[in-house]
Amino acid sequence: MHQVYFTPGPSALYYTVEGHIKNALKSYVPSISHRSKQFEEIYAHTIDQLRQLLNVPDDFEIYFTGSATEIWERLIQNCVEQSSYHLVNGSFSKRFYQMSGELGRNTALLEVAPGLGFKPSEINIPEAAELIAVTQNETSTGVAQPLEDIYALKEKHPDKILAVDAVSALPYIDIDFNRIDAIYFSVQKGFGLPAGLGVWVMNGRCVEKAKSMQQSGHSIGSYHSIPSFASKAVKNQTPETPNVLGIYLLGKVAEDMLTKGIVQIRRETEYKAALLYNLLENHSLLAPFVAETAHRSKTVIVATTSVASEKIIKQASQRGMVIGSGYGAFKSEHVRIANFPTHSKEQFEMLVDFLADYSEE
Ligand SMILES: *Cc1c(COP(=O)(O)O)cnc(C)c1O
Repeated sequence: MHQVYFTPGPSALYYTVEGHIKNALKSYVPSISHRSKQFEEIYAHTIDQLRQLLNVPDDFEIYFTGSATEIWERLIQNCVEQSSYHLVNGSFSKRFYQMSGELGRNTALLEVAPGLGFKPSEINIPEAAELIAVTQNETSTGVAQPLEDIYALKEKHPDKILAVDAVSALPYIDIDFNRIDAIYFSVQKGFGLPAGLGVWVMNGRCVEKAKSMQQSGHSIGSYHSIPSFASKAVKNQTPETPNVLGIYLLGKVAEDMLTKGIVQIRRETEYKAALLYNLLENHSLLAPFVAETAHRSKTVIVATTSVASEKIIKQASQRGMVIGSGYGAFKSEHVRIANFPTHSKEQFEMLVDFLADYSEE
C-alpha cells in the first residue's frame, strides 16, 4: 500500500524528488567526479537556490557535512576553545551538550523538563561561554523556541557565537541571519530528501574564531574544519567526495520550493498545524504535549496519548499513514507528527479525519 510518512525525519520525500532522482540517474550525477565542472555547477546552483530560499546574506557561508550531528562536533571543534553553553529541553539539545563534554570542553547548561521551552528571564549565561547552543525546534518533544527569544540572547551577548539548531524547522522558519551567527539543518526533515547531508550556514565570526583557534595551536579537526571548507568552497567544491546526489537534489528541491513560493509554504504549514492542534485540543484520547501555545512547534507536533501510542500508529499505518512514536522514554505515551512542506493540506486533512474518528475498540 502507498504510505505517507508523517514521521519527523526521515519523512515523506518532497513530492518532486522521485522525478529529480530519475533525471539525476539519466545524467549520471552519482558517477561524476567531484572535481569536475559539472559538479561545480551543481554545487553553485544548490548554494544559490538555498541563499534565495532562506534569504541568506552574502556575508554568510554555506558548507555541506554528512549530517547535523556532524555539525555539532564541528561547531565545538571550530568555535569553542574552552566553554560552551546549552539550552537543553529534550534529547537533541542534550546530545549536543554531551558532545561538547566528550570533546573535552567545559559545559554549562540550563535544562528544563520535556515539553517546556525557556523563559528568557531565567537564562543566565556564564561569562566564560564562547558559544550559546539553542535548539529552535526540539524534535523529541515538539517544543519550539520563539525567534524573538533567540535574537534577544544575541543582543544580550553580542560577543558570544549564537548557534541555532533548526534541523526540523527549516525552511518553515523565517530566520533573520543578522541576529544569529550560525544555523544548521539536515535534509531528511523539512526538505524531504534522503538522509546523508547536513547544511551549515555561518557568518564571519565563526570563520575568524576557527582561524584564531588554529593560529594559537588548537586542533580544529581536519578535512571538515572551517578553513578547509573555505579553501574548497571558493572553487565550488568540497574537501572530500561528498554526497553529490544529495547536493544535486537539495538544489532542485530548493528551486521547486522557490517556484511554489516560500510565503505560501509557510502559510500552508500554519494552516495544517492549526488543523491538527485544534483536533488535539478537542480529542478524548489525545492532547497536545506542549501546554504553552507560544512554545508549540508548527513542524513537529507531539501529542500525549491516553492509550498506548502503538495502537494508534498501527491503525494509521493500515490506512496508509505512518506517524511517529514518542521519542525515547515517551515511546508509548506520545505520537509525533511531522508537518513539513511536502505534506499536502489534503494529506493532513486525511490524517486529522482518521484521528478524529479514532476511538478505542
Ligand atoms: C534530527 C535532528 C538532529 C540530528 O540530525 P542528523 O541528520 O541525524 O544528524 C539534530 N537536531 C535536531 C533538532 C534534530 O531533529
